[in-house]
Amino acid sequence: MVQSGASVPILQNYIDGQWCTSSAVDCLDVVNPATADRLAKVPLSPGDEVDRAAQAAFTAFQSWRRTPPAKRVQHLFQLKYLMDEHFEDLAQTVTLECGKTLDESKGEIRRAIENVETACGIPMMMQGSNLEDIASGIDEFMIRQPLGVAAVIAPFNFPGMIPFWFMPYALACGNTYIVKPSEKVPLTMQKVFYLLERAGFPPGVVNLVNGAKEAVDAILDHPLIRAISFVGSTPVARYIYSRAAANGKRVQCQGGAKNPVIVLPDADMEMTTRITADSAFGCAGQRCLAASLAITVGEAGKVYSEAIAQAAESRVVGFGLDDGVQMGPVITPESRQRIEQLVQQGIDEGATPLVDGRSPKIPNYEQGNFVRPTVLQNVEPDSEIAKTEIFGPVLSLIHVNTIDEAIALINQGQYGNMACLFTNSGADARKFRYEAEVGNIGINIGVAAPMAFFPFSGWKESFFGDLHGQGQHAIEFFTQTKVVVERWSQKVWSRKF
Ligand code: NAD
Repeated sequence: MVQSGASVPILQNYIDGQWCTSSAVDCLDVVNPATADRLAKVPLSPGDEVDRAAQAAFTAFQSWRRTPPAKRVQHLFQLKYLMDEHFEDLAQTVTLECGKTLDESKGEIRRAIENVETACGIPMMMQGSNLEDIASGIDEFMIRQPLGVAAVIAPFNFPGMIPFWFMPYALACGNTYIVKPSEKVPLTMQKVFYLLERAGFPPGVVNLVNGAKEAVDAILDHPLIRAISFVGSTPVARYIYSRAAANGKRVQCQGGAKNPVIVLPDADMEMTTRITADSAFGCAGQRCLAASLAITVGEAGKVYSEAIAQAAESRVVGFGLDDGVQMGPVITPESRQRIEQLVQQGIDEGATPLVDGRSPKIPNYEQGNFVRPTVLQNVEPDSEIAKTEIFGPVLSLIHVNTIDEAIALINQGQYGNMACLFTNSGADARKFRYEAEVGNIGINIGVAAPMAFFPFSGWKESFFGDLHGQGQHAIEFFTQTKVVVERWSQKVWSRKF
């Protein structure tokens, strides 16, 4: 399944139930971000390999959609058991290629499995609706039918979880599927596809095409691909959304973020510090739900800034497979450089570095892309650092005098992925939940990640589309409704045979 012979394996594509060597001219190295070791090479597949996958998926769709839902989900049950069985290996692979700690990787794989479990409920979730006698003797039905071939284009930061926000629902609804993983972290999906193969899906129902822009553009333009899910940065999300929509496809694109947390003076400061430190520095800040701005109100300012600085300084940074490590590296040397430049820009704009995590020395991992947790104080709300997505372990502190000012600050931001409030006041919590213009809200929660049975509800520049991933939204995204209005002659009721 992995082409060998070279010093590191070259990953393969999985098309029409077969592992196949890509005809790609170019490959990229897949690199462990903590050690700089080369783990594999990933082919940058050309557009005709997307075409082969789309043709295979289209052919497979004709019988997959006719397979009863209760039979389709048997393959997902099988997949769940296989993922449980290979849980440790999948989690280790995430850590090796993506850098997060083993515990973080386990959490990620657990979330992926939860989506498989939820999609197993498709015989109930996909049901339509009906009403007898919409007029005398006439009945009306709404039924859900699958679309055909669908595809996901995934980002680097959750290589094991993000395709699962979409794929299990698409398959359970009777669609066939193509996965294009991030070229930075393609190993986890390679392993997931070994399990999908063992779960017995018929050839062509699930397909894997590795690659980058050329493969993506082929997906966006392919006439047989009906629906596309994308997760990644906002500029690419906007590009994918407009090009795929112009081609008449159904599209949902989750983009970048700049997530604020508000800390009120009545918050439990010990809990708030622990939770917001995990949010800002967990996964090295490379979570689309990472806290990036902490807006302190009134007397919370002094006590919170001292506590978060201590939490940042004491965080244990290193290789995610080593015991006791609380934070891993960022994904590439370019990411590290970008993060450090943004911190410098913040300082140039007037912020004070309370904890400066740039250029750390991590013993035994000198080649890794490490940035230690960083806290900037006195950040101006209009400064670039307060507005730009950093995607690294950097928390900017802004101080205001009232919760209204804090909410106004949140609402002037361009993104709307998540905002959190830390307080003991139910009234303030309700006001915040009601007024904050973001799609995922946390009240005394630092990473408000919806469970599989709720939609992942980004707003504003964090999302392009109508229906989100996961839960009932996913069922609606992966099906089209058909309405039947039906009348039968009443004479036959008295017919004699
Ligand atoms: P990215 O946008 O660079 O890449 C995402 C995918 O798009 C990859 O598969 C890549 O191959 C492809 N791609 C990149 N540039 C392209 C181009 N010019 N044309 C066509 N395809 C292209 O994102 P990333 O760096 O992998 O991931 C980090 C970003 O993802 C962050 O901005 C983060 O906030 C966001 N993200 C958002 C969510 C969410 O739910 N909103 C979740 C996870 C990550």
